[in-house]
Amino acid sequence: MIGIMGGTFNPIHYGHLLMCEHIREEFCLEKVLFVPAKSPPHKGSEGIVETGRRLEMVRLAIRDNPFFELCDVEMRMEGPSYTVETLRVLTREYGDGNRLCLIIGADSLVQFPTWKRHEEILGMADIIVARRPDTENGRLDETIDRLKAEHNARIHLSGAAALDISSTRIRNRAREGLSIKYMVPDCVERYIHEHRLYAEE
Ligand code: ATP
Ligand code: MG
Repeated sequence: MIGIMGGTFNPIHYGHLLMCEHIREEFCLEKVLFVPAKSPPHKGSEGIVETGRRLEMVRLAIRDNPFFELCDVEMRMEGPSYTVETLRVLTREYGDGNRLCLIIGADSLVQFPTWKRHEEILGMADIIVARRPDTENGRLDETIDRLKAEHNARIHLSGAAALDISSTRIRNRAREGLSIKYMVPDCVERYIHEHRLYAEE
């Protein structure tokens, strides 16, 4: 099974990395593809650093993990990045003999029923969900049950501990000149500072 970890990665952080490493082991994944979004349909473009920078931070963050790969498929696609279209491309590239699974955080899973053609996504991939501190377990369980009942979804809940790190918090801290050490890998921290990515204008 191949894991697909989509995100804005503005910036990538230890929450993403630790959850993917844990899930890779827990579900015996062959590898995890990190798929940065070009222009995320559910977020405005304000405050999102340019694609090349986000891609480079992911590349730096995962380069010492042989099981993690950067996948720029959404960069090669026209227009906004919809997961259903990304999955169609990845199914063509990797689907032969491999099951694909989407790795997503609890906050994204509760939004999942609003995603474009989500029932089609469920037909193409399993879903592995990681808990997140800002999402109530009750709400998460309810969404999982509903997706299973209505769409026969193959959803697995990871035992990974929820980590209280988000890109929003990192951006806010960087803007205020506060430390982001131990929230992102050193190489990403250096990259952010060198390029003054989230500094006050
Ligand atoms: P932002 O604060 O800008 O929304 P984010 O930290 O949520 O950023 P994204 O790039 O939006 O990061 O997230 C990509 C995916 O990773 C989503 O499925 C999200 O739920 C998940 N995710 C991010 N951080 C964590 C975390 N600490 N624990 C579990 N899942 C996470
Ligand atoms: Mg988010």
